[in-house]
Formats: sequence, structure tokens, C-alpha cells
Amino acid sequence: MPRKLQLKDLDVKGKKVLVRVDFNVPLDKELHITDNTRIAASLPTITYLLEKGAQVILMSHLGRPKGKVNSKLSLAPCAKELSKLLNRPIHLTPSCIGEDCEKIIDQAPIDQPVLLENLRFHIGEEDPQADPLFVHKLAKLGDIYVNDAFGTAHRSHASTAVIASHFPNASAAGFLLDKEIQFLGTQLRQPKKPFFAIIGGAKVSSKIKILKSLLNKVDGLIIGGGMAYTFYAALNLPTGDSLCEQDLVPEAKALIDACHEKGVQLILPLDNVAADCFSNDAKSQIYLQSEGIPPGMMGLDIGPQTIDAIRQALQPCKTILWNGPLGVTELPNFAQGTRAIAQVLADTSAQTIIGGGDSVAAIKSMNLDAHFTHISTGGGAALEYIENGSLPGIEALSEVMLIP
Ligand code: AMP
Repeated sequence: MPRKLQLKDLDVKGKKVLVRVDFNVPLDKELHITDNTRIAASLPTITYLLEKGAQVILMSHLGRPKGKVNSKLSLAPCAKELSKLLNRPIHLTPSCIGEDCEKIIDQAPIDQPVLLENLRFHIGEEDPQADPLFVHKLAKLGDIYVNDAFGTAHRSHASTAVIASHFPNASAAGFLLDKEIQFLGTQLRQPKKPFFAIIGGAKVSSKIKILKSLLNKVDGLIIGGGMAYTFYAALNLPTGDSLCEQDLVPEAKALIDACHEKGVQLILPLDNVAADCFSNDAKSQIYLQSEGIPPGMMGLDIGPQTIDAIRQALQPCKTILWNGPLGVTELPNFAQGTRAIAQVLADTSAQTIIGGGDSVAAIKSMNLDAHFTHISTGGGAALEYIENGSLPGIEALSEVMLIP
């Protein structure tokens, strides 16, 4: 079976290596980076290439400039941060393509990376057909292409997928992308059993596809967060003022039936912490599943019985996938369920694979990162990868035949 080309398969010495990174970091009003995780995560690939004597040319998007130059979305803060982390100058180009850019690359010392300005200042990045020349101009800048931006690997953009065809036998996965392939691809394709998935978050509509796909893989499915109440409605339980997507009730019902048919253990909240309004200071009360959520109240977190039930159900598990918070983590009084489950997962000996902004944020705020087998760098990309078994940005990379 072929596998995707890896960084270590290539001789990069003296070569111009064009690396797609994900520097789409959060900025405050003064354009200071508030969380540098994504930049720090790209360091293993960058330092490896520098040590091997390659010229590193980095490219990324930042925000949604929609094909127009927007100085507030310049990668200048990222260049500054990367320079600090690598302890060397970084050369930021004024545009990601063109003669000025080529001149900067030619003149930069080989051990000083070049960072191309925001790819999405050009329409051809997100819509390659609108400007087919864009990808040619971009590809011209390197001898080798490396994709290390898992968070955008589910997009068929110029720099994430289309560009790979310009580098036959020289389009490789960076270390970060490779790790995601290893855990979300290889490992989850044949997970150690029992395998349970915990899916939370706001809406069934954004996760219905992954829920359906997981049904064929898991032994147990735990559903929490706002989406649980659409399942309550499917069971004719009252949902009060909780989030509930009426149009998805039939889908939720079909999913419950499919769990029974396939012998998948389905756990919905056995009790809920409900509040009289969406506020941290709201009056709250615990309601059992059999009561549902009464009128005037909204379910904002799972309750203590549910936490215990999840802890017990997960005990025999060998693989656990978690995506999405089990309550409103933005309100500390309703973050208890998510935090308790983060601790349960941190304490287990099972393989634990986590994705999604809010669940990852909960883990990080509790300093539990080191206790998880794999924390994915992509929320949407991770779900699509598990669902489809491939992503455009991974598919596009060169393949190597494995000799059996
Ligand atoms: P998602 O992006 O789908 O993973 O959803 C994350 C969002 O779900 C967060 O903003 C949470 O506040 C929200 N959420 C989780 N549980 C609930 C709930 N019971 N009611 C309303 N929103 C929720």
C-alpha cells in the first residue's frame, strides 16, 4: 500500500522548500498575538529543514481578507514571533508572489527563513479557478513543497492542495501533518477496541455527518453539549429553552435507532444543569433525563450522574475520541462537566485523541495537554478526516510505494 511522502524521504540540502504552515493566530486590537500555539507547532518542521541546509520559504493565510490587501491581517506579527522563537531574522515579503518576492528569496541567507505575506490577499488562493496563474507564480518560488497546515487541509485551496501537482514526487507532509495522518488516519482506521467517541458542542447540524460515520466505527457514542437536547426532543423529552434544532429531530431519531440496530451503546445526559438565562450568574438547577428541561429553563451543562456514568463507561475503553464541549465552557459555572470529563480522559490509560477548539482549550486551561495521546491542530479538518478517511490537502501529496 502506498503512503504519503514524508519530509525525511527527501534530500533537502540547498533546496528551496516551500512550506505551507498555519499561522492563522488570534490577534488582539493592537495586533498582538494572543496565542502563539500554531506558530510554535510549526517549529519541528522548520528547524529540521534549517538543520538539513534547506532554504525555508513559509506561506500561510491569516483571517479572511477575501482576496484584498488588508494591513490589519498582515503576517508581520507572525514574522516577529517566529523570529523570537527561532532566534534569527525572518524576511517578510510584501506580497506572496511576484518579482520583489523572488528577489527577497534570492538575497536572503540560507539559514534565515522567508515568510510570504498573507496568501489570502490574492483571490487565487481560496478560488484557484478565479486566477489560475496565482498557483503557478507561487509554485515557481520553490523546488520542494511541504504541507504542514493540517487546520486547512480540508480546503482545496491553491497553497493547500492545488500547488502539489507542480511538485511531482516532491510534495511531502511536514511533521505536524504527518502526526495527524498517523493518529486520525492510520490509528483511527483500526482503533484498539472498545472505542468510544464523545461528541459535544452546540449543534447537531454541524456534526451530523461525523455522528453517522462514527456509528460504523465505535462501540459507544456519548453525546453532550447543546446538541444533546435535539436528541431529547427525538425521545419526546421536554427541552424548555435549551438549544434544540427541530428540523433535525428526525435525523436524531434515526441515529438513536441506528445505535440500537448496530449495538452501539448510546449515552445521552442522564442529568443536566439547567439555568433560567444564559449567564454565569443565572439561577441553576439539576434535572434528571426523565424530567427533561422544564419551560423557562435551558440545559447548559451535564450533571454529576452523567459524569459518573461517562467515567464508568470509559473505564474498559482502549481508544477514546473527543470533540466538542459538554456544556457552555465560556461560562465557568457551566464548564464543570467538560472539565470533569477532561480529567477522566487525562487519567485513563486508553489512547485519547482530542479535536475541536473548546475541548482543546479546556484541556490546556487545566494543563492536561501532556496526558493525551494526540491533540489535533484542526477542528473541522479533524472531523472531515475521520469522516472521509482523506482530505484534499493530504490526497494531493506525492506517494511512496511501500515494499512489503
Ligand atoms: P462546537 O463549535 O459545535 O464544538 O460548539 C461549541 C459551542 O457549543 C461552545 O460555544 C459552547 O458554549 C456551546 N455549547 C456547549 N453546550 C451547550 C449548551 N448546553 N447550550 C448551549 N451552547 C452550548
